[in-house]
Amino acid sequence: MARYTGPVCRLCRRQGEKLYLKGDRCYTQKCSFEKRPHPPGPRSTRRRKISDRGLQLREKQRARATYGLLERQFVRYYNEAVRQPGVSGANLVRILESRLDNVVYRTGFANSRNQARQMVRHGLIALNGKKADIPSIMLREGDAVAFTERGQRSELFAILKEGVASKTIPDWLNLDVSAMSANVGAPPLVARGETHNFNENVIIEYYSR
Ligand code: SF4
Repeated sequence: MARYTGPVCRLCRRQGEKLYLKGDRCYTQKCSFEKRPHPPGPRSTRRRKISDRGLQLREKQRARATYGLLERQFVRYYNEAVRQPGVSGANLVRILESRLDNVVYRTGFANSRNQARQMVRHGLIALNGKKADIPSIMLREGDAVAFTERGQRSELFAILKEGVASKTIPDWLNLDVSAMSANVGAPPLVARGETHNFNENVIIEYYSR
């Protein structure tokens, strides 16, 4: 599945906030948003009022940028969310959080979702004991994520192992640091501010118009 391959720091500047898409770099002075906290392109002297529709669009774009998804795939998740029983907004977040690349990132095995996706693509990640190289695979309760043999031999493995214990991981994941494996203990929690930085209900409104 295609993905956004342009400069990710531009997305933060467009959104007017840090989206933390580049791992450790985001916490340093090298962060582009720290240096240029204005939207990319020529600076406008006019103050534009953003319409309600514009605000909804911005919320949707923020979610897309956070998970590194293209519009087509995001719409697929929206359709799935409204089909499922329950609150569509919460369903949408749960779907996004259940992606394999997101779980690899949430466990602390990767410093960013981009890195997690690359690790999956390169065959470094195993799902339930078998290599899984499709970042969009949906995980369910009981699924276990670990490194493949190739992953354990990679230089990255030792570096990540050192840092993984210091990371905070969500309650719905159980992490075994010594084995560098994790399993999904419960459905992903949906708590704005803790799990995500966008308003999922506004996104549902945006698409349902
Ligand atoms: Fe965004 Fe991280 Fe780039 Fe800063 S370094 S602009 S937080 S992606």
